[in-house]
Amino acid sequence: MEKEITQEAKRRLDSLFEAFSIVGDDTHVFLCNMQYDYSRWSKKLVETFGLPSEYMYNAAAVWEKHIHPDDRKAYHDGMNAVFTGKLLGHDMQYRAKRVDGEYDLCTCRGIVVSYADGQPLYFGGAIRNHSQRSQIDALTGLRNQYGFFSDLQSHILNKRPVRIGMAGIGKLTEINEVYGYNVGNKLLQYFGRYLMDNVTDRSGTYRLDGSRFAIISDKRDEKELADLYEVLRSHFRKGIKVDDLQIMLELNAGMLSLEDFNVDDQTVYSCLNFAYDESKRNRHGDMVSFHNELTDDNRKRIEKLHTIRSSISQDFRGFYLVYQPVVNAETEELIGAEALLRWKNEEYGVVPPDLFIPFLEMDPLFPELGEWIMETAIKDAQKLMQYIPGFVINVNLSYAQMEKTDFTNVVWNVIRRTGFPSKHLCLEVTERCRLLDMELLNNVIVALRAGGVRVALDDFGTGFSSIGLIKSLPFDTIKIDRGFVLEIEQDEKEKRLLNCFTDLAGTFGANVCVEGIETCGMRDIIQDYGVHSFQGYYYSKPLAIENLLNKVKEGAGCFKQL
Ligand code: C2E
Ligand code: MG
Ligand code: MG
Repeated sequence: MEKEITQEAKRRLDSLFEAFSIVGDDTHVFLCNMQYDYSRWSKKLVETFGLPSEYMYNAAAVWEKHIHPDDRKAYHDGMNAVFTGKLLGHDMQYRAKRVDGEYDLCTCRGIVVSYADGQPLYFGGAIRNHSQRSQIDALTGLRNQYGFFSDLQSHILNKRPVRIGMAGIGKLTEINEVYGYNVGNKLLQYFGRYLMDNVTDRSGTYRLDGSRFAIISDKRDEKELADLYEVLRSHFRKGIKVDDLQIMLELNAGMLSLEDFNVDDQTVYSCLNFAYDESKRNRHGDMVSFHNELTDDNRKRIEKLHTIRSSISQDFRGFYLVYQPVVNAETEELIGAEALLRWKNEEYGVVPPDLFIPFLEMDPLFPELGEWIMETAIKDAQKLMQYIPGFVINVNLSYAQMEKTDFTNVVWNVIRRTGFPSKHLCLEVTERCRLLDMELLNNVIVALRAGGVRVALDDFGTGFSSIGLIKSLPFDTIKIDRGFVLEIEQDEKEKRLLNCFTDLAGTFGANVCVEGIETCGMRDIIQDYGVHSFQGYYYSKPLAIENLLNKVKEGAGCFKQL
């Protein structure tokens, strides 16, 4: 039976423990008064491993029960040696069972503190949990992305309304390239410090990845946050001093109000990212609120996205593909189709892809959906190839898929699994892919083409760098956006532009597909430009696979119009 600890001994244990606890956030401490065998353990350890309390008599025996059976004897012997005075410390690794039954690898280091006469008084040390990721950013000292998600989850769980802002430094990559990483790092540290001192306290300030920071506030409303951002922005615009340099920075920012939502942290993050991206791409860095929609139906919109996002992990429930025919521009015979993604459920009906793909694109789940799209489209294409042997299926890619290091392997695996001939697959990339590193993009495209897969540039002409893209990347096909041919029947300029585009594509050895053919008038005019293929409502709207199959069975040339 243990001896009950005195008040004074407990007070001393507590004050020592607190002095001791000021260590890194992923290291947890324990301190034992050996006379009473009475210990205090970090709260985090108690919660993670489901220990009975922060204060324990005979903690070693309690802890031993959590240690993996294979590691238990070593732990037992080690602790025995400490408590019998044979050893003055211990340093070991073992696996300890968490409250959810999983094991975490831990390193435990402790020492014995003795009286002058050698009588042991305290045994104290730290347990480092290697399975737990640090929530502190090493560069700025702010909470990092893990800390951000952990706090966000807690706000959602407690239904605590908060405003979340994301701000970042534009062109940090260029700054790193021109001045070196050291300067880039100092800028980030300065930025973090400035945010903490001027916008919020440490607890609500985070450094996410790269150049982006976030704050979570339960006090300020959107207007106040937007005002603060303007202060921040003009401060950095004037330029800040790093070493001997005066560097002027442009910022981007997005924000979102979280109310009593039935959503998860990833959905919130995707929406926030979307607002930030919009600020960067289309608003020259002005603060974009996810809320400032005409519909004002912020809540519904986020909940809808949440439902769509969740369906990815529910076996892609609600997702399906429709196929829009692609015809030979001269003969108007069906030569392929483009797979287009749809989602529907009872509550929201059919949701067109433009409403959810831009949000999901940045989501870690998206590549999984992308693989499902590719496999589903290929399997449907196999059915069509029985009737049209030369059939090519076009599948849209998002830049987030291509960014993954194993992306080409994903493609080869799908092709192998389905036994599909690679030259019948055409992957469409949009100009958004210019967000990727050009060298990476080039490597991906070259690798795909070397394996026989075709690659098309979608929506040509809608971005900033269309010509640059086709000059530096080897595309098989250039798809001209329908925006360039809408008025071609009346507009001379559109005709000249189209001429220009087809010339350009020819120079780089690519075929041309014109999207958005809606009338026979358009077809007649565009046919004179020697383009390779057509797509548009004039031939067909996107169809369910059964409908397309039926049409094809009726006769492969059925898309030829009068
Ligand atoms: P996109 O790849 O350029 O697809 C063409 C879009 O134009 C389709 O819209 C199609 O229905 C529409 N369209 C075709 N012909 C006509 C026409 O004659 N007139 C008009 N007004 N529109 C026409 P949709 O299906 O709404 O897709 C929109 C965009 O969503 C696509 O543009 C593509 O960027 C993206 N998307 C669709 N499916 C996927 C997918 O599976 N993965 C990825 N990453 N993006 C997708
Ligand atoms: Mg497309
Ligand atoms: Mg397109």
